[in-house]
Amino acid sequence: MKIQEADAKSLLLAQGLPVPPWEVARTAEEVKAAAQRFLDAGAGRVVVKAQVLVGGRGKAGGVKLASSAQEASEVGSRILGMDIKGITVRKVLVGAAAEIVKEFYLGAIIDRASRRIVLMASAEGGVEIEEVARQSPGAIHRVSADPLLGLLAFQARSLGLAVGLRDPLLNQFVAIAGGLYATMKANDADLVEVNPLAVVAETAADGTPRERLVCLDAKITLDDSGLSRHLELEALRDLDEEDPTDAQARKLGINFIHLDGSIGCMVNGAGLAMTTMDLVKHFGGEPANFLDVGGGARHETVRGAMELILADPKVKAILVNIFGGITRGDEVAAGLIEARAQQARAVPMVVRIVGTNAAQAARLLQEARFETATSLDEAAEKAVAMAKGAAR
Ligand code: GDP
Ligand code: MN
Repeated sequence: MKIQEADAKSLLLAQGLPVPPWEVARTAEEVKAAAQRFLDAGAGRVVVKAQVLVGGRGKAGGVKLASSAQEASEVGSRILGMDIKGITVRKVLVGAAAEIVKEFYLGAIIDRASRRIVLMASAEGGVEIEEVARQSPGAIHRVSADPLLGLLAFQARSLGLAVGLRDPLLNQFVAIAGGLYATMKANDADLVEVNPLAVVAETAADGTPRERLVCLDAKITLDDSGLSRHLELEALRDLDEEDPTDAQARKLGINFIHLDGSIGCMVNGAGLAMTTMDLVKHFGGEPANFLDVGGGARHETVRGAMELILADPKVKAILVNIFGGITRGDEVAAGLIEARAQQARAVPMVVRIVGTNAAQAARLLQEARFETATSLDEAAEKAVAMAKGAAR
C-alpha cells in the first residue's frame, strides 16, 4: 500500500527524523491560511506540493514555491485539480520552503535476493533514482543490514562517506539512515525513500548561519501482508486514489491481481490458482488475472468475483476452476448463474467444479447450459480455444 508524502513524513517524524513542519490543504483558501501561518512564523517562502501517489511531481509542475500568502493561494488553486500522470490532485502539502544547498538520495528497500533490508544512497539526489541507476549506476552506494544486528553505525557512516558527506553533516546522516531502517521495521514497510535528503541553509537562533540535513520528500510503501499487524496504518489508505477493482476485491475478501492476458480465472486456493495459470500458459493462453475466491466462498462472493473479472475489457474467455472442500460446488454454481443473469457482456466461460456437492453443481450448470469440463487440462484447453475464437 502506497501512502501520501504527508503521511510518510508523519511516520518518519515518529522515528525522530528531521522533517520540516507542514500542513495539508484541500482548497486555495486553506493553502492561503496555512501559508500565512508559516510566513508569520518566520518563513521567507512557502512550498506547495501536490499530494498524489506518483513520483515526479516536481517535473509535472506539482511542486511550487511562493513568497506571499496570496501567491501561495494562486499556486494552490493551480495545483489543486491538476492532472498528474492520470491522477487528479485533491490535496496539497504546505510548508516553509527550505533553502537547498545540495540534494542527496537515501532509500531503504527489501532486497529479496539477500533477504535483507538494504540502504541505498546517492549524491545525485532530487532526480528519480531509476534515472540515476540507468545513467550512472556507480553513483548509487549500498549497505545491507543484518536482520539480527540491524543497521550498524559504521555501515551508515561508510554510506555517508561514500556520498561525500563529512562531519557534522555525516553524523546527522548516520542518525537519519538509522531512522529510515527503524521506520522500515516499525511499519513493515517495503520501501522508505527520502529524495531529496537535503542539506539546507538555516539561521540558528543566535543569528549564525548553519547547514543541516532534512527530509524534504518522503515515500513509503507498506507491505500489505504486514498491515494486519498495524491496524492504525489502515487509516492512511488513500481511498481517493485506490483502484476501484482493488477496493472491491478487498471488500469481498478476494485475492485479486491484474495481469495482461485475455483469460479471466476464478479459482479457490492460491496454489490451485497458480496451477490453473500455469496450465493456461501451457496450452498457449495468457491469464488476465490471479483470483483466489478463498475457502467457503458463498454465491455472493462468486458473483462479485465474476464482476471483477468482467470489469477488465481484455477478458475474452473465463475459466472457473473450483475444488470443493469447505467450498460447496452448488453454491459456486448458483453464484455463476446469478452472475451470468446480470452480466452486461457475453464472454464464453468454461466451468470445472469437483469435490463437495460437485454432482449438484453439475446438474445446476447443465440446466443453465454452461460449458463444463471434468479435468483441469480439458478446462484450460477449452478456455484457451474460447479466447482464441473470440479474438478472431
Ligand atoms: P517529487 O518530484 O515528486 O519527487 O517531489 P519532491 O518533493 O522531491 O520535490 C521536487 C523538487 O522540488 C525537489 O527535488 C526540490 O528540488 C524542490 N523542492 C521541494 N521542496 C522544496 C523546498 O522546500 N525548497 C526548495 N527550494 N525546493 C524544494
Ligand atoms: Mn522527490
